[in-house]
Amino acid sequence: MQTNFTTAQLADPHVAESEKILRKCVHCGFCTATCPTYVTLGNELDSPRGRIYLIKDMLENGRAADKEIVTHIDRCLSCLACMTTCPSGVNYMHLVDHARVHIEKTYKRPLMNRLTRGVLAAVLPYPARFRAALKLARLGRPFTNAFDAVPALKPFAAMLRLAPATVPAASAMASPGTHAAKGNKNGRVAILTGCAQPVLEPGINEATVSLLNRLGIEVVVPKGEGCCGALVHHMGREEAALDQARQNVDAWTREIEQGGLDAIVITASGCGTTIKDYGFMLRLDPAYAEKAARVSALAKDITEYLVTLDLPEPQHKPGLTVAYHSACSMQHGQKITRQPKELLARAGFVVKEPREGHLCCGSAGTYNIMQPEISARLRDRKVKNIEATGAALVATGNIGCITQIASAANIPVVHTVKLLDWAYGGEKPAGLPAALLAAE
Ligand code: SF4
Ligand code: SF4
Repeated sequence: MQTNFTTAQLADPHVAESEKILRKCVHCGFCTATCPTYVTLGNELDSPRGRIYLIKDMLENGRAADKEIVTHIDRCLSCLACMTTCPSGVNYMHLVDHARVHIEKTYKRPLMNRLTRGVLAAVLPYPARFRAALKLARLGRPFTNAFDAVPALKPFAAMLRLAPATVPAASAMASPGTHAAKGNKNGRVAILTGCAQPVLEPGINEATVSLLNRLGIEVVVPKGEGCCGALVHHMGREEAALDQARQNVDAWTREIEQGGLDAIVITASGCGTTIKDYGFMLRLDPAYAEKAARVSALAKDITEYLVTLDLPEPQHKPGLTVAYHSACSMQHGQKITRQPKELLARAGFVVKEPREGHLCCGSAGTYNIMQPEISARLRDRKVKNIEATGAALVATGNIGCITQIASAANIPVVHTVKLLDWAYGGEKPAGLPAALLAAE
């Protein structure tokens, strides 16, 4: 694609990076076929190609974002299916990230929209605040339908619907410390405990630590790590995202320098995509560029790490049929497609792949709160395809997808690592119906 940026504009490294990306796009439109919002809404401006044109026009003309571009960029899930499909290697992720920062700096959103985004950014990345908010949600649940009737309050109705009926107690495992390997020590990793996941489902990290320890891997929860920054990054709040990234880079660098790390293990693929991008996000910060690149290189999804280990025979082969849902951040963001399915099959599960596996389930960070209608349409389509497999349960590697799919599916949705931990001698995942367990 031809571009017309001035030399002065290209002096801004963010614009220069976006210009390089824009020039790679050949307008072929292949990406439209796999874009969930184009497939759902049928509007070219809700396709990757349409959004690329809008972004190019906004950046080239150096103008402030307007309502039209904000509408179409806000509808983008950042699922990155377009990057998997694109034959020209267009890095849509970095382009839309830049557009979101430009929008945040130049567009004044309506009051309720600003308020909702502010609440999400102030609560979700902090486990104690998020836990308190979920408890409060129980009181607000009777007002769900009333909120739904007012367009500006629909995100609050979506939040109340997604909030679990009970909030698990905080896990001791999330506190900084070292979990020693059992038997011979074969490696040492750090684990990202995360922000929303340990509140909603602390058993995921517990199963990860337990499985890794039994495999001879020491797991450290570094002091000072926190939210990966994805949530504010996707809102275009660049400085807040970079601050969270720097805090994690510092925490993991201390561990790399003190005890050495074979990997930084991540159990939420949405976080994994962002941490693997720290090297790019902090490339212009001389104090952090090198350290961030080192952290990104060490970041591994738990399944990506497990396939590098010498796994024993599973102690217990559950034999259940599992529909594997590949989160967008797993398959498109990190290009991890083979490992989770291979691990599940090796552990004795019969793995089925739902149709339209490339399409997002509609979770996408806070998308199911900010864009509840499109999100619900994508969720229902996903659940229909999953249920058509006839599987007894769903396995996936991202807490957002677990919450989203479980809100509509009639079968249990379990994190992949909990099933692997069970097969390799750990505890049965809670919440599997007795009938399912009796049938194995
Ligand atoms: S990231 Fe997903 S929703 Fe956004 S343009 Fe690409 S395919 Fe469409
Ligand atoms: S597939 Fe790639 S090159 Fe083709 S229109 Fe989409 S982004 Fe541009």
